[in-house]
Amino acid sequence: MTIAESLEDLRTKIGPKATLIAVSKTKPVELLMEAYDADQRHFGENKIQEMAQKYEVMPKDIHWHMIGHIQTNKIKYMASFVHLVHGVDRPKVLAALNKEAAKVGRIIDCTLQVHIAQEDTKFGFDLDELVEVVQTLGQYPNVRVRGLMGMATFTDNHAQIREEFTALHNAFETYGPDLGWEVLSMGMSGDYEIALACGATHVRIGSSIFGARHYSA
Ligand SMILES: *Cc1c(COP(=O)(O)O)cnc(C)c1O
Repeated sequence: MTIAESLEDLRTKIGPKATLIAVSKTKPVELLMEAYDADQRHFGENKIQEMAQKYEVMPKDIHWHMIGHIQTNKIKYMASFVHLVHGVDRPKVLAALNKEAAKVGRIIDCTLQVHIAQEDTKFGFDLDELVEVVQTLGQYPNVRVRGLMGMATFTDNHAQIREEFTALHNAFETYGPDLGWEVLSMGMSGDYEIALACGATHVRIGSSIFGARHYSA
């Protein structure tokens, strides 16, 4: 399938209720432009400088999502344009985002990353840490938390994935109504259908659009 065909296919499966974020990390601008020409306007990257380089050369009506682990010293490269920062996984990131957003006179939207997987390797707040961090959000006037983000365990066990996404959805339902949340970012190429069934509002899909990634040295 071409990129345009893959996007069309995904849009049909996802429907109007969720936003499709095309995860374009490691992919060259020409391929992103193919997606852009097929009307894709939300792109996700996991390295701040790579995203900033693509932002510089691509059309300015794109919404750029930072979906990776945040190095706080790099926030300055995206503060002026980033649309939504998904991977806020520690108070230090909230403080640094607040500071850089204030410098450029913006309020930066983000989601809190919650650790739902049965893997040590995935970042995020635990559910009990989340209780505490939501009480501190008033300290960051230039950051607006819009909801939650999470990644399920990389497994074929659909019941387990469903359980993890359900836990995230429950947390979203617990805090969301009071805090005005509207973003539940969960689901990737391998598990987005389960995520949608569990209430995802944003799915982050890379390889099903752009093909497998090749990491070179
Ligand atoms: C790479 C990545 C994705 C997309 O993964 P695919 O399996 O290629 O769809 C989604 N979310 C995050 C946080 C990622 O790093």
